[in-house]
Amino acid sequence: MNTEFTVIDPNEIDADIILRAGDIIKDGGLVAFPTETVYGLGGDALQAESSKKIYAAKGRPSDNPLIVHIADMEHLPHICREVPETMKVLAENFWPGPLTMIVEKSDAVPYETTGGLDTVAIRMPDHAVALEFIKASGGYIAAPSANASGRPSPTLASHVREDLDGRIEMILDGGEVGIGVESTIVDLTVDPPMILRPGYITREMLERVLGQVDADTTMMSGTDKKAPKAPGMKYRHYAPHGEMTIVEGAAEDVIKTINEEVSKAVSEGHRTGVLCTDETVAMIRADVVKNAGSRADEHEIARNIYRILREFDDEGVDVIFSESFSADGFGQAVMNRLLKAAGYKVKKI
Ligand code: AMP
Ligand code: MG
Repeated sequence: MNTEFTVIDPNEIDADIILRAGDIIKDGGLVAFPTETVYGLGGDALQAESSKKIYAAKGRPSDNPLIVHIADMEHLPHICREVPETMKVLAENFWPGPLTMIVEKSDAVPYETTGGLDTVAIRMPDHAVALEFIKASGGYIAAPSANASGRPSPTLASHVREDLDGRIEMILDGGEVGIGVESTIVDLTVDPPMILRPGYITREMLERVLGQVDADTTMMSGTDKKAPKAPGMKYRHYAPHGEMTIVEGAAEDVIKTINEEVSKAVSEGHRTGVLCTDETVAMIRADVVKNAGSRADEHEIARNIYRILREFDDEGVDVIFSESFSADGFGQAVMNRLLKAAGYKVKKI
């Protein structure tokens, strides 16, 4: 298949391009598109065959459910068995935005889209291209992140091309994404609601409007004996090829330990990579040193981590060390993604 790669300016959206993308979806094809979190791989959420194609293009296990993206609140009742009050409140406060809500699905949503579940995950993205594209497609876009299964989520259209060129009909290049990690997922089928995946919308933000909100305890540790609540969480997402370790401790000790570990790995013949920050970059020695930004700006760190993990792969790094970050607020989402990339391997000093 020939994949059409098209640049689209979010500030001046070309209506013809959007129409063409919408027609591809209506015809059962796939289009990758920018959102405020990461790039999504879209297909018609109401066509079982489209969802099957999404799984095939990504090489993703088909019991790992997709998120349905909408652009209009009026489309909500068609895909939900009922629209709970909590959903209305959260939508009013956080949509369009990086919050995915899980509710009971209606019969209109095929099991191919929900990975066999009776629930459906829904969000309204905060990105002009995404919203126009969803509208032009009929209103319901099933979209996981537009990476090949097992690779870091794409924050640039070039990442999508690396993974999916020749496997999908079209890639809409709307530039670099704003947030850089996937949406917060909250399950509204339980009381109190439960966060299944941390993201830009934090527990504190949700509790401010909903009262008590719980968080899945498997979110920040790979060793918990309990089965993860979100089906997709059992898969080792976001993993670079290299063996990655997060080093946690006081700043000077972390720098010293990383440098020692790098020397050891180099002497064993490995090619090493380090994910560090503005504050430490001058003191780190490794084959490939990547600066994710200032420790004081977790948004900058979030925007850079997936790109950096891909760059380690591109540069043939086989041993990776990363600093750790505060897991407060949005930092929890950043640490959650780094922990997954490291297979939860942490060296505490
Ligand atoms: P991605 O689109 O790659 O960011 O991943 C979507 C994730 O949303 C899946 O991996 C699941 O963890 C989660 N998800 C989607 N639908 C549901 C659902 N009905 N119930 C629980 N989790 C879901
Ligand atoms: Mg994903």
